Amino acid sequence: MDGFESNEGVILIAASNRPDVLDPALLRPGRFDRRVVVPRPDVRGRLAILKVHTRSIPLSQDVDLDILARGTPGFCGADLESMVNEAALFAARYNKNHVDAQDFDKAKDKVLMGAERRSMIISDDEKRVTAYHEAGHTLVAKLLPDTDPIHKVTIIPRGMALGTTQQLPIDEKHTYPKEYLLSQIAILYGGRAAEELILEEATTGAGNDIERATELARSMVCEWGMSETLGPLAFGKRDEQVFLGRDLAYQKDFSEQTAQTIDGEIRRICTEGFVKARRLLSENLPLVRRLAEALLEREVLEGDEIDRIIRGEALAPLREPPRSRPTHRPAAGVGDDPVSDLPGLAASLRNPKLVPES
Ligand code: ZN
Repeated sequence: MDGFESNEGVILIAASNRPDVLDPALLRPGRFDRRVVVPRPDVRGRLAILKVHTRSIPLSQDVDLDILARGTPGFCGADLESMVNEAALFAARYNKNHVDAQDFDKAKDKVLMGAERRSMIISDDEKRVTAYHEAGHTLVAKLLPDTDPIHKVTIIPRGMALGTTQQLPIDEKHTYPKEYLLSQIAILYGGRAAEELILEEATTGAGNDIERATELARSMVCEWGMSETLGPLAFGKRDEQVFLGRDLAYQKDFSEQTAQTIDGEIRRICTEGFVKARRLLSENLPLVRRLAEALLEREVLEGDEIDRIIRGEALAPLREPPRSRPTHRPAAGVGDDPVSDLPGLAASLRNPKLVPES
């Protein structure tokens, strides 16, 4: 660096989300010549981050930061900070002296799935469609092997979604096997498949699911060489460094004929996922109904409650009845219904070898 001698003991550190556009002259030896990639924290990192953010917060005895760190794979530092803040707000709202495990539980859901919108007006019809839609996602995830466990499924509107099926991986994932991705696509189609099977109609609620399934199939074919027809090739060079996990511009570097084959392969993968979801659900119709009815009654189902329903066991009685909502037709432009994943999972799926920065 100009103005500094190499023996002055000055270390200059800078951060950037766009290392790809930096002037190479900046990166020459003696300048910014070391590159440290800061990925999402692992479980040890999350524990350390939680310790920092809970330092000045009175924690109740039942809060175990180690368990919290284990239960939040994929969270970045800002997510963890936000979770701690939300937990403190929940505790303050109920005039508690300490932040307890229940507050953290609610805060985690808020960070994962967005804030509940209990005031949103939803018709009974729409609630029913949402319940079957989410039951479809949930059951496909449960019936396929090697999927992430279901953390929670709810038909309380959160953010833009009318319902949410939340999967939470057990561990950090850095690479994703092909089977896992195919299952993920089938899970995304589970919502639409359930609507068609039970309600015999399709709704716009599956729009986001379909978009994400298609995007995943495209990455499998064009980036990860997972199509037997096309072989282990990459199509469409990206105009940026991959590890940031964002796409800017695709550069078309293949023929018109290959483009058609790519489209065909994407269509095949998506259709097979949809057919798989539909088959699984049609073989288990009573289970879909049981799950959806339980959702309509309770509005939220935890992972272990879903397991009980699938095993045919009775659920514990409701602790408090769900707050009733007025039931009128909502205004036009009802939100979509994404199967939420961890924040940025879709982004990390772009480049399965590396976990991108937040
Ligand atoms: Zn959905």
